[in-house]
Amino acid sequence: MGSAALSQAVKSINNWSMNEGRASTSPAKAAELFGSMVFNDKEQRERLPKPAYRALRATITRGEPLDLATADAVATALKDWASEHGATHYTHWFQPMTGITAEKHDSFLAPTSEGGAIAEFRGKELIKGEPDASSFPSGGMRSTFEARGYTAWDPTSPPWLLVNVNSVTLVIPTAFVSWTGEALDKKTPLLRSMEAVSKQAVRVLKLFGSTAERVFATCGPEQEYFLIDRNFYFARPDLINAGRTLFGAKPPKGQELEDQYFGTIPERVLAFMAEAEFELYKVGVPVKTRHNEVAPSQYEIAPIFENANVAVDHQMMTMEVLKKIAPKYGLACLLHEKPFAGVNGSGKHNNWSLSDEFGNNLLGPGDTPHDNMQFLVFCAAVLRAVDRWQGLLRASIASAGNDHRLGANEAPPAILSVFLGDQLTDIFEQLEKGAAKSTKQGGTLDIGVSVLPRLPRDAGDRNRTSPFAFTGNKFEFRAVSSGQSIALPNMVLNAAMADALDSVATELEQATAKSEDLNKAVSKLLTKIIKEHKRIVFNGNNYSAEWEKEAKKRGLLNLKNTVDALPQWVTKDAVKLLDRFKILNAREMHARYEIFLENYNKTINIEGQLMVLMANRYILPAALEYQKRIGQSVAAVKAGGSSSVQAKKLLGVYTKLVDKFKAQADGLAVLLEHGGGTPEKHAKYMRDKVVSAMAKLREVGDEIEVLTPHELWPLPTYREMLFVK
Ligand code: ADP
Ligand code: MG
Repeated sequence: MGSAALSQAVKSINNWSMNEGRASTSPAKAAELFGSMVFNDKEQRERLPKPAYRALRATITRGEPLDLATADAVATALKDWASEHGATHYTHWFQPMTGITAEKHDSFLAPTSEGGAIAEFRGKELIKGEPDASSFPSGGMRSTFEARGYTAWDPTSPPWLLVNVNSVTLVIPTAFVSWTGEALDKKTPLLRSMEAVSKQAVRVLKLFGSTAERVFATCGPEQEYFLIDRNFYFARPDLINAGRTLFGAKPPKGQELEDQYFGTIPERVLAFMAEAEFELYKVGVPVKTRHNEVAPSQYEIAPIFENANVAVDHQMMTMEVLKKIAPKYGLACLLHEKPFAGVNGSGKHNNWSLSDEFGNNLLGPGDTPHDNMQFLVFCAAVLRAVDRWQGLLRASIASAGNDHRLGANEAPPAILSVFLGDQLTDIFEQLEKGAAKSTKQGGTLDIGVSVLPRLPRDAGDRNRTSPFAFTGNKFEFRAVSSGQSIALPNMVLNAAMADALDSVATELEQATAKSEDLNKAVSKLLTKIIKEHKRIVFNGNNYSAEWEKEAKKRGLLNLKNTVDALPQWVTKDAVKLLDRFKILNAREMHARYEIFLENYNKTINIEGQLMVLMANRYILPAALEYQKRIGQSVAAVKAGGSSSVQAKKLLGVYTKLVDKFKAQADGLAVLLEHGGGTPEKHAKYMRDKVVSAMAKLREVGDEIEVLTPHELWPLPTYREMLFVK
């Protein structure tokens, strides 16, 4: 019974004390802890022979290839370091197309000829691993009889230690490729895209007199998540198997009082956050921010930005740590983008920028952006990139889960547009007419209380409704979903930007070759870009119906769901783009398209099956029991010689609902047995037939819930899950 979960949850909350879940560390130690489980630069310098250290740094900072001798030296130092920390095993950690991470642990032990064993780890084992690739999705890139796949050490992301109560494992971040060298993972294309964008950005920088030889994409992802008591979690088959609730009536109190956002963090949750942060510090994830989010029981964690490839690894680790630590506090962490209908879903705000090797942020406007030509060129390139590749960007965040979010009135719409803010919009408007002469300043903010300091006012307000917003010195891709790996959206962003910068560089190079004045050429180019791509700029309310109409007029894509968005992976242009920059070839693109379609189809199928199961084995038995009780009560009143109008009416209404519910559940079961041919056809069938049948079944189920006595209801309710904490 659902109410059993409630009493267990209440007991667990009452019993919960700071002692039970106390982290093995204290806040004062946090700085000391940071990176203590990472084979970071400091360890590398101390432990590696000088030539090996220099060679490794050259690989990390300049992308130079690494030789086997260096790998051997690194392997030995790594093993010694890991062993000193108690590690007995190592693993090649990779990010297959499943969207989660994979690891297979191997012992350092190698047999000796005397029948004993010694700890051994060589460069060969560091550089290359060979997991059986046949059990990971490959989208037809590899038939099962050619199961070979390799994991290849990614030296740009530092190894760390995975500490468990009974074991310590050395984790080596890797890329995962097939025997033919095709990318079977999300990391490889990301790394390739970083090289591509670096190369094109350097061309542009050179025109402005920079000596930078490398540019890095930087990323700081803000992760939203829900925490609920674990007892509720285990009492909900839908949460366990689908990550989201498939039934559940809206509670009387939702988020309408707006009393959640930045609200006081509950004691147990704060304790959980602190321990999760300690764990992340240890493995070098620079967590910075924590707060309550908009929905009840929703929270956020955000790190300081890093190079995008490291940020992606750290983001995966963050999701894993959140999930791992929550049970210690009697909590379950939900990373699904829409665990609860009717309350806000979760996203991942992907803050993104470019930085040169000296650490200069290329999207930092300075105080007077109107005369910061280099900044304006990079900023205009972003507009071009997002406008030109809006379809691919949309596809990079498409999933069955994100379909519940995008376009609902709480999350960015499915239409991609860029928020620039007043200041930049004004400058670009000036540029459209020829030249930018001034920058609007924010001035200061007088609060009207003399003891309070005067605050400098930002030149523009924020816009929470935009899917892609300029936030002062970076762009924030806000439509990314909470549960997904951020590798894909960052890869696409880098690719799109490489394309835009390539065209910018080419044009400026040609102009200066003809000894045209650079400033004039830039000015001309900016005017051209803004004329061509201003349709992508939208500073208004993205949730409004007018925007949808306006966007259509502007010719922007509105790919409302995954099934509409996924084909963008295989348009001729998209394939050409990623192939041109050697990020993904046509086969790799088609493979991804296939995997994402399959993933959509499987997800909807699992959810549909789960609904049928919950309908028949949870909700119906409870409903029939209540129906019987009302019937008995009507009969008892009648036997007493009178007649209860209201009870009879209730019986009528309730019986009708139950009949409808059972018929719809059976209907859904039948729908799930069929399907349409190709994966594309099947996906359309799932979206058009199954998803809508699920929505209808849910509606009736939720109507039954609000009429059924609490003690009979077999599932924890929204009110309990979201507010009992
Ligand atoms: P806000 O969302 O209020 O602008 P912050 O300035 O704290 O908040 O930034 C939010 C996220 O953006 C953080 O993760 C931060 O590290 C990241 N960020 C800041 N600067 C950059 C940058 N140049 N590149 C990528 N991410 C950045
Ligand atoms: Mg933000």
